[in-house]
Amino acid sequence: MLIRRGTLLDGSVVDIRLEERITEVGRELSPHSHEEVYDAALGTVIPGLHDHHVHLYSAAAALESVRVGPAEVTGRDDLARVLAGAEVGSDGWIRAVGYHEAVAGPLDRTVLDEVSPPVPVRVQHRSGILWTLNSVGLAQVGLADHPDGRLRSADRSWSNTLQRRATSLDRLSRRLCEYGVTGITDATPDLEVADMVRLVEAHRHGDLRQQVYFLAPGKRILHDDALDLDELTAWIAERHDAGGPVALHCVTAAQLVVTIAALRAAGGHPQDRIEHAAVVPDDAIAELVDVGVTVVTQPNFVAERGDQYLTDVPAADQPHLWRLASLLKAQVPVALSTDMPFGDGDPWAAMRAAVHRQTPTGAVLNADECVSPRTALTLFFGAPTRPARPRTIAENQPGDLCVLAMPPADALAELDAGMVAATIVGGEVVYQRS
Ligand SMILES: [Zn+2]
Repeated sequence: MLIRRGTLLDGSVVDIRLEERITEVGRELSPHSHEEVYDAALGTVIPGLHDHHVHLYSAAAALESVRVGPAEVTGRDDLARVLAGAEVGSDGWIRAVGYHEAVAGPLDRTVLDEVSPPVPVRVQHRSGILWTLNSVGLAQVGLADHPDGRLRSADRSWSNTLQRRATSLDRLSRRLCEYGVTGITDATPDLEVADMVRLVEAHRHGDLRQQVYFLAPGKRILHDDALDLDELTAWIAERHDAGGPVALHCVTAAQLVVTIAALRAAGGHPQDRIEHAAVVPDDAIAELVDVGVTVVTQPNFVAERGDQYLTDVPAADQPHLWRLASLLKAQVPVALSTDMPFGDGDPWAAMRAAVHRQTPTGAVLNADECVSPRTALTLFFGAPTRPARPRTIAENQPGDLCVLAMPPADALAELDAGMVAATIVGGEVVYQRS
């Protein structure tokens, strides 16, 4: 196909011919016979956004779920009210997501029974790793005698049947197209081969328009109470010996320090990643540069949870939260992502958070870590296997593009999903704003 009159971020106006890859970029290219032509009308053409850390199945399920986080629900009565009004899914379950103890204290089957309607209910904790089921729900999954109804997501005895049933990816994929997202990396650590095959098939059949990549089996979540440097080093070395990189989930300073030490001891793979890096103490920055590991982080959590950080995190530690500018300045390889559905899946909201770092009440968390709009945007251009290397609009680059309805200066001033006029994957228009 041919895109005419597109403005690149450097201000130049070009025509772009593309298939799976871009084949030609030039001034006033003539359309071939029968070639599809899209007029960008001087709007901005950028590489399609790649969200480097998402959880697709959970995100698809979340679209059919009711939110019960601190932003939506206050107290036990309110929780009961929201669950009573929730839509019962096609499988007969009510799914609630985003729960945090700030809503109505710790949740177990007894508490949940008191606030649930008489149907199977499952409530996912905001951390994503814990579900609480009511007694009707526990009976349905064959766990009627479970002591407290608190189930770890990683326990496949029940999560397979519940989480990965026929969840529709179509609705989620359409939403991502509206954001200009042309590729995603699924970061779910326990994704099985069958799950990955299903996603690749969904892409082939068109239910999932986005290109899809996986971190499993090299993804690993660390827990502060079980940090074992020797064991982690051996695991990393084993992955590297098998030819694969690792992706290590670090949300505390302790996890980051042990991960850096383990990467140092095991030796690096050029595609090794640290996920989140939610807390980076000052002296860890030089270490990250030294190890050469890529950081895939989520500034959107500043915009979504910033007020909670300002109350819960000691003032002395707050400057270490969700760093960005200081990492880039030190030349740590960095890419952005949303962690959808645990973070809001709109990458433009994540970019605005990277630029302004405003919390929901309007406070600013670590103004020193703000980046320019152009930087924030470019951090979503990364190649799937090299997230810190931005793709460009040039010959032989992937034919995955996003067209914005306005020229670059306006687009950078707004950074809003509403600007997306068309999304193109592999040389085919998969979304066009009506
Ligand atoms: Zn995640």
